[in-house]
Amino acid sequence: MIKLFAPLYELKGVGPKFAERLTKFGIHTIKDLLWHFPSRYEDFSRISKIADLKIGESATIQGVISAVKLKRTWKRRMFIVEVLITDDTGSIKAIWFNQRFLLGVLKKGRLVNLAGKVGTDPEAGICLVHPIYELTDYGLQTTVKDKEAVVGSLSTVDQLKHTGRLVPIYPETKRLTSKGLRLLIKISLDNLEELPEPIPPHVLAERNFPEINAALRQIHFPENLKEARIAKKRFAFEDLFLLQLVNIRQRLRLSKERACSFPADIPYLKSLLQKLPFELTKSQKVSLWDILKDLEKPHPMNRLLQGDVGSGKTIVSALAAILVARGNKPFDAAQGKQSAFMAPTEVLARQHYLTFKKFFPDFDLGIGLLTGSEAKIFYGEGLESAVKKTEVKKRISDGGIKIVIGTHALIQGEISFSDLAFVVVDEQHRFGVRQRAELLKNNELGIVNSESKNKKEQDKFIIHNSKFLIPHFLSMSATPIPRTLTLTIFGDLDLSIIDELPSGRKKIITKIVAPGNRDKAYAFIRGQVKKGRQAFVICPRIEKEEDTEGRILSSQEISRLEMKNVKEEYEKLSKKIFPDLRVGLLHGKLKAKEKAEVMDKFKRGEMDILVSTSVVEVGVDVPNATIMMIEGSDWFGLAQLYQFRGRVGRGEYQSFCFLFTDSGAKSTFKRLQAIINAKSGFELAEMDLEIRGPGEFLGESQTGLPDLAMKAVQNPDLMKAGREAAEKILNADPELKKYPLLLARLEGFEKEIHLE
Ligand code: ADP
Ligand code: MG
Repeated sequence: MIKLFAPLYELKGVGPKFAERLTKFGIHTIKDLLWHFPSRYEDFSRISKIADLKIGESATIQGVISAVKLKRTWKRRMFIVEVLITDDTGSIKAIWFNQRFLLGVLKKGRLVNLAGKVGTDPEAGICLVHPIYELTDYGLQTTVKDKEAVVGSLSTVDQLKHTGRLVPIYPETKRLTSKGLRLLIKISLDNLEELPEPIPPHVLAERNFPEINAALRQIHFPENLKEARIAKKRFAFEDLFLLQLVNIRQRLRLSKERACSFPADIPYLKSLLQKLPFELTKSQKVSLWDILKDLEKPHPMNRLLQGDVGSGKTIVSALAAILVARGNKPFDAAQGKQSAFMAPTEVLARQHYLTFKKFFPDFDLGIGLLTGSEAKIFYGEGLESAVKKTEVKKRISDGGIKIVIGTHALIQGEISFSDLAFVVVDEQHRFGVRQRAELLKNNELGIVNSESKNKKEQDKFIIHNSKFLIPHFLSMSATPIPRTLTLTIFGDLDLSIIDELPSGRKKIITKIVAPGNRDKAYAFIRGQVKKGRQAFVICPRIEKEEDTEGRILSSQEISRLEMKNVKEEYEKLSKKIFPDLRVGLLHGKLKAKEKAEVMDKFKRGEMDILVSTSVVEVGVDVPNATIMMIEGSDWFGLAQLYQFRGRVGRGEYQSFCFLFTDSGAKSTFKRLQAIINAKSGFELAEMDLEIRGPGEFLGESQTGLPDLAMKAVQNPDLMKAGREAAEKILNADPELKKYPLLLARLEGFEKEIHLE
């Protein structure tokens, strides 16, 4: 018998070398191995003959590699591996781009299965484009690399292939083949200890899911596809169910904490609204109402405010902060408490500060701006002073400022608040328990400065102490995240969505621009500037990569080198193309102060064209800018491009977005076209998620989550089912006393996903 968490080398047939290779893929234990699920199953009874292939169809063929070529297209700057496959009816080419390693794998004379779409390529003609391949002649011929995995077990491999009609195919890489894995998994399953079932039996039964031991066998070696599908679903369900348990438990924990309650002063709110130069949109009103309702409760709010770029999230949260500052009795400042606004960049922090000043000019309880390079306090009626940072910090700790706006520096350390009760975090995906704790450390309202009080006193303020008041928390995000994903990752948050733009906004005209039309685009920009408008030019990089040391570069590297960089582009535009216009430069390597100066100049209209990297991405608001020109747009994700585009079209003027790309690839065009076609950021987000996968989409290194997120996205119904089941169980048994196996599994799971 082998234990689930046994290291791989305990498995007979796995040599130390092979075990080490597996660790590179995150497979360390038997559990890792068995949870490495097939990506699909090959039905060997359905192999097409080459002569019968039709363009456009997906097919699996089997044949001998009769020729292998490496080609290099200078036009597309790519390596192409071209392989000719022959069966008893004919031959067809298969091509792979930029996968030179295949030369070492797909050798002439070998027997191979290829599954993919029959297409046409301008150079290769009719061919299989990027098919999935599998060498099928193990036992006949063994390469050195795979030898270890198959030695002594050739008969088993053979048996697997020929007796099972369905053969599991694992996500394949050059160093880890389905062949080797299939064998190891078979051996592991045959010797595995009996596993405890963490999911309560009635939950499984309600959904007709197999129990864990059967499911493991069925997912790897199914009798038929239906069985495989159900087993796969069971595991996806398990993960989503566990994730929802984590989320809901987190929610329950928080609902036991205490927070200041702020019943909204409605007449005062009305007076604030009347002074705004616009009326809130319907969804702004609804979201504000959600937030005010939360603030009224004596438990901490934990809410995510989502809305497309330009939908007006700032004003909604700002109104809430003003009400918190005013306190829960009409005009009784003594009752008011502090709010903190955190923005991801100094530029945005400044912008929020300016928003407060603009919309609440007579708010006189102190609004502070504190960033790495700036410190200011605004006391209403035009009273504003630039002060030392220490002065702002002092006012924060003595309560002389009711609203403080800054970057994350606000919570990272030495600032102590007098009575922080409301925290708004802009454009950040997650704000965890740890960060919350960080805030509390320095908040006199609830707790104790770790330096100033002794350990015993600190211990008094443990959770559930009635004096321990946790700030309400609001997260704002313009990154449209598909709803399913939101529920998965932010399942512990309540959700408000602003799903409309303020009226009067014009649709942004978006065009994909081929290299040949560059001059036309420049002429167009000039025309807009002549009319008094402004333009952004975004480049993927700051400067050219210098050091290639005379190496031979891969095609990937070559195109990276070709990537537009802001510095060169700035030189070109300011000296050659628009020498008569005012061109500015912005990138992440500038000092914060320099950045703020450039941004300010642009906002004030003292600059016509701003050449920038993605630092301009989030939240920046310049209503007079009407052109967003993006260089090398294929280097950005769809959601990111969408964010860029959202920088324009914020005022009354017709705005334009030009997506430049040198890549002639059809797929690039299709991807960019999605920006033009998408009706909303959410739709685009779904697509982006599909194309790039949650890992890149989320851009986070949280282990486990992307994978889970993908499951959720692919199985929205399952996600719902997992959530319902989790709710039901926790409602009846919040501590999971009746489910020790589940509780044990949950603890392991929490560690696995590192939610915080
Ligand atoms: P985002 O949701 O992207 O953070 P902002 O809060 O920056 O959007 O708002 C974008 C712009 O729209 C700002 O100039 C803001 O003053 C303006 N705005 C907000 N709400 C409305 C509204 N209801 N009507 C008109 N303009 C609005
Ligand atoms: Mg914003």
